[in-house]
Amino acid sequence: MDAESLPRTRLFIDQKLAPGGTAALNGDRAHYLRAVLRQGPGDRVLAFNGADGEYLASIEALSKSSGVLRLERRTRAPVTGAPPAPWLIFAPLKGGRTEYVVEKAVELGVGRLVPVFTRRGDVGRVNLDRLRANALEAAEQCERLDAPEIADGIELHKLLAGWDPARTLFVAAESGAAAPLVTAVTAAAGRPVAFLVGPEGGFDQQELDALRRLPFVVSVGLGPRVLRADTAAFSALAVWQAAAGDWRLGDGDARPPHRD
Ligand code: SAM
Repeated sequence: MDAESLPRTRLFIDQKLAPGGTAALNGDRAHYLRAVLRQGPGDRVLAFNGADGEYLASIEALSKSSGVLRLERRTRAPVTGAPPAPWLIFAPLKGGRTEYVVEKAVELGVGRLVPVFTRRGDVGRVNLDRLRANALEAAEQCERLDAPEIADGIELHKLLAGWDPARTLFVAAESGAAAPLVTAVTAAAGRPVAFLVGPEGGFDQQELDALRRLPFVVSVGLGPRVLRADTAAFSALAVWQAAAGDWRLGDGDARPPHRD
């Protein structure tokens, strides 16, 4: 079976994957295959788990509440040598835009998403189950070999109190002194990084002042226009990918479909 005829359905399976082995499907996955995709025993899918690459698998058994995949062969090896994936710390947005941020950030290669609650934030809680499902779906669709973590929501001051100073925190600061983004991310290439984007109402001045005092914070600017928070997040991630991330890799490195 060549790359052209591989199945389009990809499933994140949180289990060890090895040729000849099996993987159990939980109720959600079984329902998705059976009721949504109308698949059944003998149909094929691609499976990945964030550690063992990607596998061609056939559906061995499928019921309403469970199923079994038989793993045939590896189709993609795990990616090695890629820069550490950036994190995105974002203030949740109204009207479905939080889900949109999750989907697009996953496509842009984020490693961890952290909803953060700030003084001017519009949204005080998030539906983590839904965001985690959005993240898995986006990872399956965009041919990632892993699925990013969605952390529990946290107050900004608590997040900063527990921050590992080895990870540079780029704060998208819509006002005040800030380095041009591309200059700042290029200087940090190869190091673990995170981006912090504020809510639609922006950061409160005290928050910005407190952030600027922290040794691991670098304030970055995204140009002279005020961007919506989602635009700011996607712009920051795209610039990082182009300057320091895996968009620098050429054909033959890790671009899909690059299969065994
Ligand atoms: N209410 C704020 C104001 O009028 O200045 C604008 C907030 S903006 C809609 C939402 C978030 O996007 C900001 O907190 C910031 O993190 C980021 N952002 C938007 N435009 C930016 C820019 N030009 N440079 C850096 N960050 C920006």
